[in-house]
Amino acid sequence: MTVRDVVQLLESWAPPALALEGDPVGLQVGSLNARCARVMVALDPSLAVIEQAVAARCDLLVTHHELLYRPMACIDRDTARGRAVALALSEGLTVYAMHTNWDIAEGGVNDVLAERLGLADVQVLDVTKREELYKLVVFVPDSHHQAVLEAVCAAGAGHIGGYSHCTFNIAGEGTFQPLPGSQPFIGRVGALERVRETRLETIVPESRLDGVVRAMKRVHPYEEVAYDVYPLKLSGRPQGIGRVGNLPAPMPLLAFARHVQQALGTAGVRFGGDPQLTVRRVAVLGGSGRSWVGHALRAGAQVLVTADCSHHDVADAWEAGLAVVDATHAALERPAMERLARRLQEALQGQIEVRLAEGPEDPFQWVSRTG
Ligand SMILES: [Zn+2]
Repeated sequence: MTVRDVVQLLESWAPPALALEGDPVGLQVGSLNARCARVMVALDPSLAVIEQAVAARCDLLVTHHELLYRPMACIDRDTARGRAVALALSEGLTVYAMHTNWDIAEGGVNDVLAERLGLADVQVLDVTKREELYKLVVFVPDSHHQAVLEAVCAAGAGHIGGYSHCTFNIAGEGTFQPLPGSQPFIGRVGALERVRETRLETIVPESRLDGVVRAMKRVHPYEEVAYDVYPLKLSGRPQGIGRVGNLPAPMPLLAFARHVQQALGTAGVRFGGDPQLTVRRVAVLGGSGRSWVGHALRAGAQVLVTADCSHHDVADAWEAGLAVVDATHAALERPAMERLARRLQEALQGQIEVRLAEGPEDPFQWVSRTG
């Protein structure tokens, strides 16, 4: 396996095109062509995490936050960030970031959060993109029609609403003449061939297009596969940042804050709002969500669960009618990195070893009167 193989899988889950504008997701340092046997997953590419990945002989470190979020004017080994970059490069560790694309992706940071909090009827809080849809048309000899149909549908083509394997198939005749140097599956060089073929057409979301075309070519018998990809003037599912959903039963804000703390397995959360306020509809935004108060109110939420709020953020939200539960940034995002590590290990079982960075990744700790 190469780093590129692993990255292709990651990008099928969280396409870089989903990232918010100006967010430099993807390769941070290293090489996509490097060999990859061991992967570490972490929230932050801190110097301590990079040292840990190097000590564990990992080839790839996948993090949520970027190593190079802002361009570096110089790589100074006397700074922690400079040492982190230099160490990764000198030890051949590739660092790859999936940041806001993993926040937005289905099954990413915000979906994991909504799931942890037990929300139902979950919708996107702030739609940043509508998925582009494409029509794939491929011409396949009858002998391989079923195999190609299965392969493209398994790779994500042919989904419409609650239906899978949505395709249309028309039988016809294909012609071709193999030229000198070709190695035809059917026919001889220099002779015009006529073959019974099926025109198979189906719909593919943008995020699945590359994978679907690869899967199609893998099982199609022809040396040169005849296929077309058409952009469609239809929009697919809304994609975006944050989620809003409903609790199974209403509860007072105080009880909800405790529920968040327990669901995230964190030592504490802060909250702003009337402790007796009845909470049913909940907005969540992993990371710094102070700018999404208006979205949460418009979505009908009584409370926003997010991180990094200031005094004024919470006071203003409270005044506007929205309670806020402020957990730490790491407490909100770490569960999705744990999920990512598990998903990667399951998908590449036997091919790579995946480990989660050890040790506390939350820069905050808590003291309280009781302990
Ligand atoms: Zn974050």
